[in-house]
Amino acid sequence: EPIVTFEQVSYQYADGTLALDQINLSIEQGKKIALIGNNGAGKSTLFQLLNGILKPTSGSISFRGKKLTYKRKEVQELRQQVGIVFQNPETQLFSSSVYDDIKFGPKNLKLTPEEIERRVMEVMELTETVTFKDKPPHFLSIGQKKRVAIAGIVAMAPALMVLDEPTAGLDPYYSKKIMDLLEDIHHENRTILLSTHNIDLAYGWADEVMIMNNGHLLAKGTPIEVFKKR
Ligand code: ADP
Ligand code: ADP
Repeated sequence: EPIVTFEQVSYQYADGTLALDQINLSIEQGKKIALIGNNGAGKSTLFQLLNGILKPTSGSISFRGKKLTYKRKEVQELRQQVGIVFQNPETQLFSSSVYDDIKFGPKNLKLTPEEIERRVMEVMELTETVTFKDKPPHFLSIGQKKRVAIAGIVAMAPALMVLDEPTAGLDPYYSKKIMDLLEDIHHENRTILLSTHNIDLAYGWADEVMIMNNGHLLAKGTPIEVFKKR
């Protein structure tokens, strides 16, 4: 069973912009998916629909086979199941230390203090953020900030991790670090969806590629299927 299914999903902003036009898609458990599209293609809109920040203006979205009704409690639960790492990590790091930032997400899940601590320690090792755990996040480099933002989401153990251009603005060294990290995370059988402009990256990393343009999903398949046709 897919984690998420979109049926004829459209999204129109208040000013009339049709950002998504009748999208059908499903996201399977355990896959690594790359979403490719120009600026304005609708990628961020799609991401915001995935965790309930936005609600379709028509069509429907199902999570684990259950159609979303957008009741408050359901949206809260959805946000714990779908973790988003925004393109600019500044927008999601606001605690006075890296440690507190990473702890913020799991603290809101009903876990014992021991389990919270265990998870925070584990993800700090995985993301190599331990060495600067007491620093205020705003002192960090962009690559370090991205790792902290990713750590915070991984610590919540969401069913689906969504990353908006995780390597944008990073030099090749940090880009590789981030992709290696996503590879390590994936070994724990998580589903990861990322957006990128980098076709080589998508080709090398993804199990599945989706191509969007102007609110439409143009293609979805394995990298070989998708890029052979083009
Ligand atoms: P992408 O992430 O692929 O760059 P977006 O989802 O941000 O694309 O945008 C899709 C379309 O919706 C674009 O035409 C964009 O200008 C428009 N859009 C995005 N946010 C808003 C908004 N708040 N109000 C009106 N139009 C918007
Ligand atoms: P201490 O030096 O006793 O650790 P500080 O208040 O000086 O306490 O710093 C708290 C944390 O913030 C430290 O872990 C340090 O790594 C980080 N920090 C403080 N100032 C800077 C700075 N200018 N650049 C980078 N990190 C800093």
